[in-house]
Amino acid sequence: MAAAEPPLIELVDVGRVYRRAGSGRRGVETRALSDVNLRIAPGEFVAVMGPSGSGKSTLMNILGCLDRPTQGVYRFQGRDVGRLGADERAALRRESFGFVFQSYNLLGSATARENVEMPAAYAHLGRALRSERAEALLKAFALGSRLGHRPRALSGGEQQRVAIARALMNGGRVILADEPTGALDTKNGEDVLAVLADLSTRGHTVIVITHDPEVAAWAERRIDLLDGRVVADRHTGGAARAEAGGAVLGPDPLPRSGRGRTRLDFERVAESLRGTLASLRANLLRGSRLRTALTVLSVTVGVWSVVAMLSVVQGGYRASVETVSRIGADRIFIRSGVEYGDRESTPVRLTLADAEAIGRGVDNIRGVLPHVSGQFTLRHADRLVQAMVQSALPETLVIEHLGLSRGVFFSDRDSANQEPVVVIGAAIRDELFPTSAAVGRHVLVGGTPFLVKGVLARFGRPGSVVEDYRDKKVLVPLGTAQALLFGRETLDAITVVAENPKRVGETARAVDNLLARRHGHRGFNLSSDIPSMIGFSTVERLMSALMGAVGAISLFVGGMGVTSVMLVSVGERTREIGIRMATGARRQDILRQFLLEAVAVTVAGGVLGTVLGFASRIVFDAFDVPAALSLWFVFAALACAVGTGLAAGIVPARRAAALDPVAALSR
Ligand code: ADP
Ligand code: MG
Repeated sequence: MAAAEPPLIELVDVGRVYRRAGSGRRGVETRALSDVNLRIAPGEFVAVMGPSGSGKSTLMNILGCLDRPTQGVYRFQGRDVGRLGADERAALRRESFGFVFQSYNLLGSATARENVEMPAAYAHLGRALRSERAEALLKAFALGSRLGHRPRALSGGEQQRVAIARALMNGGRVILADEPTGALDTKNGEDVLAVLADLSTRGHTVIVITHDPEVAAWAERRIDLLDGRVVADRHTGGAARAEAGGAVLGPDPLPRSGRGRTRLDFERVAESLRGTLASLRANLLRGSRLRTALTVLSVTVGVWSVVAMLSVVQGGYRASVETVSRIGADRIFIRSGVEYGDRESTPVRLTLADAEAIGRGVDNIRGVLPHVSGQFTLRHADRLVQAMVQSALPETLVIEHLGLSRGVFFSDRDSANQEPVVVIGAAIRDELFPTSAAVGRHVLVGGTPFLVKGVLARFGRPGSVVEDYRDKKVLVPLGTAQALLFGRETLDAITVVAENPKRVGETARAVDNLLARRHGHRGFNLSSDIPSMIGFSTVERLMSALMGAVGAISLFVGGMGVTSVMLVSVGERTREIGIRMATGARRQDILRQFLLEAVAVTVAGGVLGTVLGFASRIVFDAFDVPAALSLWFVFAALACAVGTGLAAGIVPARRAAALDPVAALSR
């Protein structure tokens, strides 16, 4: 029968030499297999026998595409397996092979059902189908009541039947069993062999490796190995099989056409995420809880410090810009006049047109304030006060950081129509209207009646220097001041306020050039407080750099914590990785799993860190530290966390993905 059909498996002169690094140039060589020629037809039940060290496991690893021969050719269904890449071999394992090991090799952290489902997950079979099929298989092996049990809670025989169900999950055309009964008592061993025998009658090719003649007696063909060579290969008829009537049955293998190929990608991502969550949960359950918690904590501290630093830097920036503005370091003052010793120039006449030209022709400008001012006597009823009356525009309110305690400020029409209106400082109000409301009343300014439109908010305590300087303001619209009070077009001064205080120097140069061009000479003085600006921006830069460095270092330390924990985890979970690879995981599946785990840990830390960062606002406020928190910090923090996770996870994940499945399984 075997001769008529094309061989499923064909080995031609296969040899396997293990090389270990040693003192010599080539190291130590172990010849595990030599000149093995084999043909195995579909549906055969083969026992491979031999004493320990005769090469049985090596042969099985080669047959199952976990390992490659160093000599000769292995053809599976006519395809030269030696030419396939790692992922193609993974696909073969996934679709055609099912492994059953002496030590079961179930994932201890997963339930029986999850263990059985795993190969189908790597084959991208839909969740519902997967779950249904796993359940049917487990029921067929009398494990219907053990679906949610973890391997620890199962007997050896039960675990081995779970492993067989897993081997059948994707069809399991070839079942490779390495000493499947080695760890079982006679009764359980016979149950397992009965299952295998039954599978072979249903068309599965079963290859059992054993050193026990009683086990070999179940098979219909027996191959003997000695020192890596085939010393006997004969048909035995499978004497014991007759006794295996009524054995448990597995459901038929899945149809293998187009399985899962058309599924949406985001479903696949969701699948990965679910797997990661399950794995994380399993790790937490498996006692590395403290370690995971500490890792999350280290990332938390990292992200927390980044958020805290960002908020202090931003708060500090805002505070410094405001301070700079209050002390006037963001301003350029222009007055008419000539430099001492300049006999050629004459002082220019500054006009509103100059102010407008600056506003239009220079960038980095927040506002341009043309000024006229002079001393006047203000009078209400029998009360008199001497005050400096200054011109103002609607934008003066914002640019000079003024606030109103009563009434309103000027409008553009007040200035254009030369309305006789006035806004007075708190100290002037105190003097002229000690008991009554000021808004809506008239005051005489130099003999002309002006309507009080508003009262400015108080700056300083009564009697303080600040009060003298800022609370004794009397503001009149520019047009009104020029027409009614001063009777001239000429301005006394122009104040230019820079948008970005750091660039006030270059703005001053631009203003200087523009005015020189307009007037043909430099008959004006231009002054700005550049030294204090430089001082401010230097301190601010230093602060930002320092804070940034602290944040980055914390994040880096957190990231290293993640890396080292992940490395330990890869080391501990080598066997898990081997099992996943044997059931058909691609390298990228392993890579993604470990990367996602690292990212999940750091994102948990990122979320906690962000929450703490926002909570520390309370502490900052308590200590009067200027702190500002923006919503984009959340994104920045989470981006930091994900970035750290990817950076920290890449080395461990690559290490895991690069593991050799045979070496990983032999741990
Ligand atoms: P069996 O399964 O029949 O006991 P193996 O296939 O495990 O035999 O091993 C066959 C020979 O190859 C033994 O001599 C063993 O020491 C050697 N061998 C197996 N695996 C390795 C390895 N990874 N590196 C070096 N030698 C190995
Ligand atoms: Mg072995």
